[in-house]
Amino acid sequence: KFQVTIPNFKLYNGKEMPALGFGTWLGLDEKLEFKVSDAPKLVDAMLYAIDIGYRHFDTAHFYRMEPEVGYVIKKKIEEGVVRREDVFVTTKVWQHNHRTDDAYASIEASLRRLGLDYIDLVLIHWPISMDINGVDEKIDYLETYRGLENAMKNGLVKSIGVSNFNLAQLERLLSNCEVKPAVNQIQVTINLLEKELVSFCKAQNILVVSYSSFGSLTRSYATDAPPPKPDDPCLVEMGRKYNKTATQLVLRFLYQRGIATIPKSLTKARILENASIFDFDIDSGDVATLEKFDCGYRSDVPIFWQEYTNYPFEKQEKEFFIDMPESLLKWKNGANLDID
Ligand code: NDP
Repeated sequence: KFQVTIPNFKLYNGKEMPALGFGTWLGLDEKLEFKVSDAPKLVDAMLYAIDIGYRHFDTAHFYRMEPEVGYVIKKKIEEGVVRREDVFVTTKVWQHNHRTDDAYASIEASLRRLGLDYIDLVLIHWPISMDINGVDEKIDYLETYRGLENAMKNGLVKSIGVSNFNLAQLERLLSNCEVKPAVNQIQVTINLLEKELVSFCKAQNILVVSYSSFGSLTRSYATDAPPPKPDDPCLVEMGRKYNKTATQLVLRFLYQRGIATIPKSLTKARILENASIFDFDIDSGDVATLEKFDCGYRSDVPIFWQEYTNYPFEKQEKEFFIDMPESLLKWKNGANLDID
């Protein structure tokens, strides 16, 4: 049976987080509806992931998969494959829960859906707030963060952090918080290195977790994306040298920069492939070659939020504007309130 050993990164508070985890965002289909029909496949994928050595799951209230994540962990504990303390679970507070008390209640609800008695890490999903109809609520993320701090003080959560915070937002949070964030989860990919933000996080001892690390490499619709594509001669040649795939090179490259990754796959071979990056080193010459792809390209931009308060990215030209998909406001049961 295949088995991988995934090393840990240490958070500033002494807690350990596996350097590579399993992402549980199923995404939207062609009609921009949530791919909840993939939930059974996700469960199978996560069961397999634990069997081969994954110990870190990245989920969110918004992904609607907390019950599935909880089910898988409980089953593997019952089977004696893992103990609770061997598994690292991250979840996130969604944008309609940004008032201090709502953020706290959201964490309690996540605990209930996960069926756990503590969560390893809770993040503010975005610095932006909106109500259940999608209207900008303009709530200060400092207020939201206080809800996370309270949950941590009360033992619901071991570590807290943020996601999609830009440098200015992170700096402001750092000067106004009691508990320093342990993590900033952002998109970092081969053509979006985010050098300034990553260096800032490093200097503050905040661990960067990269989401959508493959960027346009695995997105067939991103036809106009800048290089590289998986068949890029440079990646192909380097892959041959190390006997690794383009996606493995990307994950390893990020790991060598001290960045954790959380690739998502429903395909067993890829689940194994993604975690098989801890047995080689990309040499400094090749690191320099890979760095040349950096061009600040963001593969998935939530442009529909760009007029919202605290939108973290650079705004784009209006001609590209698309409306927020309705499904971002609807939850699993069809109601626009919650998933249970
Ligand atoms: P990823 O970059 O992980 O890519 C996932 C896609 O790549 C899937 O279509 C998958 O296909 C495919 N894939 C996975 N592994 C391989 C491989 N080895 N070779 C070729 N194709 C591969 O994208 P995500 O956007 O899902 O990001 C990962 C996780 O990050 C999410 O699941 C979520 O947990 C988190 N996230 C957080 C965000 C935030 O705002 N904080 C935003 C976005 C994501 P298949 O499944 O068919 O194998």
